[in-house]
Amino acid sequence: MDHFAFLLPVIFCVFGLTFLFVACHEPRSAPWWGLGYLAAALGFVMPILSTTVPGPFCALIADTLFLLALSFYGQGLLRQFRRRLPIVPRVAIVAVGVVASVVSTFVLQNPTLALSANDVLTSLCLGVPAVAVLRHARGAAERLLLAVVFMVIGDALIRNVVMIVLNRNPADFETFLASPYAFFMQSTSTLIGLLLAFAALGCVTLEVIGRYKDVADRDPMTGLFNRRGFDRLAGQKTRAGAVIVCDIDHFKKINDRHGHAAGDAVIAKVAQILVDGHAGDAVLARFGGEEFVLYLPGLTVSAAAHVAEGLQTRIGSADWPHTGPVTASFGVAETRLDDLSIYEVVARADRALYGAKLAGRNRVFTEAGRPADLHSENARAVA
Ligand code: GH3
Ligand code: MG
Ligand code: MG
Repeated sequence: MDHFAFLLPVIFCVFGLTFLFVACHEPRSAPWWGLGYLAAALGFVMPILSTTVPGPFCALIADTLFLLALSFYGQGLLRQFRRRLPIVPRVAIVAVGVVASVVSTFVLQNPTLALSANDVLTSLCLGVPAVAVLRHARGAAERLLLAVVFMVIGDALIRNVVMIVLNRNPADFETFLASPYAFFMQSTSTLIGLLLAFAALGCVTLEVIGRYKDVADRDPMTGLFNRRGFDRLAGQKTRAGAVIVCDIDHFKKINDRHGHAAGDAVIAKVAQILVDGHAGDAVLARFGGEEFVLYLPGLTVSAAAHVAEGLQTRIGSADWPHTGPVTASFGVAETRLDDLSIYEVVARADRALYGAKLAGRNRVFTEAGRPADLHSENARAVA
C-alpha cells in the first residue's frame, strides 16, 4: 500500500509533464490535461503527508486538488472537441465543492459527507463538459476518450453510492486510509485515471499528426492544397464532376516589371478570389507557379464553365493597385467513365487552357477546344 501510494503521484506527475511537453506542439487541449494530471498527482501526495499534516487539512487539500484536476480535464475535453461553456458556473461548482469540504470536515466533522460531496462535485466538473461534447466526437479516438470520461464519472458516482450503502463511517481520515475499501477505491480510480491519460494522449497525438499532415498538404503562400493535398482529396476516388484549370496571364511580365514580391501578392490575391468564388465542396489547389486547379464534384462542364466565367470576371475586375490589371485564362473539362484518374481530366482541362491562351487569354475554354460561349446553343452542344 505504501509503495503503491508513493507510485501514484509519480505516475500522474509523469503524465502531467508529458502533456505539458506535448503542449508545445498542441497548445489547445494538452496544457489542460497536463495541469489536470499535475493537480491529481499533488492530490495523491496528500495521503503520504497525512503523518505530518493533520488529517482533516490533508483531506481538504486533496479534495480541492481533485476538484481542480477534474475541472482541468473538463477544460481539456472541451478544447479537444472544440466546444465552449461559460466559465462562471464551472468556477462556481469548484467553489461550492471547496465550501462543502470545509463545512463537512470542520463544522460537521463528517469525513464521509466530505468525501461524498466532493465525489458529486468533481463528477460535475467533468460531467458537464462531457455532456456538452457528447454529440461532437470525430473518429474512434475521441469516442474512446468520451467513453473513458464517462467511466471516470461513473467510478466516482458508484464509489459514492457504495460508500452510502455500506455506511462505512470511518472515525477519522487515518482509519479510512488504512481500510481495504480505500485501497480498492484508489486502485479503480488509478486504473481509470491511467486509461484517461492514454485516451487523451492518443487524441492529442492524433491532433498533432493531423496538423502536420495538413501543413504538408498545403501551399504556405496561399493556404490552398498543394498537389499532394489535391491528390489526397481528389486523386484517390474520383466522383463524376468537372475540373477547372486557371493560369494567370503574362505573369512573367508582372514579375519582371514589379518584382517577385508583387508577383507573390498577385498569386495570393488570385487564390483568395478563387476561394471566395468557387462552389461549396470543390477541392482547390495551387499546382505550382501561377496555375490553380479546381475539382468540382457533381458539376457538368457547362456548369463548371459558368463558375470559371464568374472567376474570370472577378479577377479581371478586381482592384490591382500595385501592378495594374491582372487577368487569367481558364480551361474546363468533365470526368468521363473511362478516365483512369482525375489527372486525365486535368490534362484535358490543361489542353483547353492552352486553347484559351492561344485565342488571346482572359477567357474560358472548354475541353472541346472552343470558347465557353455560355449564352449560345453552340455552348450547350459542346457541353
Ligand atoms: P502565360 O500568359 O502564357 O501563362 O504567360 P506567363 O508569363 O504567365 O507564364 P510563364 O509560364 O511563362 O511564366 C510563369 C512565371 O511564374 C515564371 C516564374 O518565374 C513565375 N513564378 C513561378 N512561381 C512563382 C512564385 O511562387 N512567385 C512568383 N512571384 N513568381 C513565380
Ligand atoms: Mg501564366
Ligand atoms: Mg503557368
